[in-house]
Amino acid sequence: MEFKRLGSSSVRLPEIGLGTWKYAGGVAPLRAGIEHGACLIDTAEGYGTEEIVGHAVQGLRDRVFLATKASARNFRRRDLIAAAERSLRRLNTDYIDLYQLHWPNYRVPVEDSMAGMEELVDSGKIRFIGVSNFSVRELKRAQAALRRNKIMSNQVSYSLIERTIEGGLLEYCQQSEVTIIAYSPLGMDLAQITASDPEGVLSRIATARGKTEAQVALNWITANVNVVAIPKASTVAHAIEDCGASGWRLSQADSDVLETKIRYKRRGFVESAARRWARHAFQLLGRSL
Ligand code: NAP
Repeated sequence: MEFKRLGSSSVRLPEIGLGTWKYAGGVAPLRAGIEHGACLIDTAEGYGTEEIVGHAVQGLRDRVFLATKASARNFRRRDLIAAAERSLRRLNTDYIDLYQLHWPNYRVPVEDSMAGMEELVDSGKIRFIGVSNFSVRELKRAQAALRRNKIMSNQVSYSLIERTIEGGLLEYCQQSEVTIIAYSPLGMDLAQITASDPEGVLSRIATARGKTEAQVALNWITANVNVVAIPKASTVAHAIEDCGASGWRLSQADSDVLETKIRYKRRGFVESAARRWARHAFQLLGRSL
């Protein structure tokens, strides 16, 4: 397993971690992933998987980098601290390695949330601060709200078929030493990627390299500087296979073929702004996302 630095810290993250949204695989796939080097596990208070992650890391806690997230409804300073304490209990641990704001909340000033984050760091309940689904603008504002800490990561969607972050966010994070944690790196289902690959280039490259399609799709992501990926694998076989996406590199020629032949989405400024506006309106209506 290859490792990458977490943000501007000295901590090293495996370039393949383990996602747990809609995870129902029990302890074994997570343990198998850890054994094969994927010692980064991502969960969230909203996933309902913190308890199983807590079980999986019993006896292995010091080998695992645990990342979880607060839901947007809990972004006020006191609510955030209380949410972190509940996550600690569910995870059955006394510290969270990376605590992330799950989505921007336009109803709560980010200064309030970041004050809570810094209190959590000061009390030793969390080690590092991260965000998720933040745009460049939101990231800059969140960073400006922090007095003593830096934002270490931004968890965002990135795969062969979802390449919106290439419109500026990826470059900004690379330049500012903010690790990109790529979620849904297999497009939420590998079949979604193969359906966007009319010429079958993913399969052809995988066969030529002696790798699987999932491994090629993940390797394409982690070839980027400062980017790690967190596929969700509910079986031991998938978890081990995903770990095999690390430790080798696609050639530039193969990457070029994947990038030109597989159809992908890259939302422009207007579409991204419209989606944010819709989220904002939803939150103003009192719905939590
Ligand atoms: P994903 O990892 O892109 O895809 C998961 C799917 O890929 C599952 O159906 C899984 O099957 C399958 N899979 C895994 N390894 C495979 C392999 N080697 N071969 C074939 N299929 C394989 O989708 P995701 O769960 O949306 O994203 C991953 C993680 O990112 C989440 O679990 C979560 O931790 C995080 N996430 C974060 C956000 C956010 O807003 N921050 C949003 C979405 C996701 P099995 O389950 O059967 O193994």
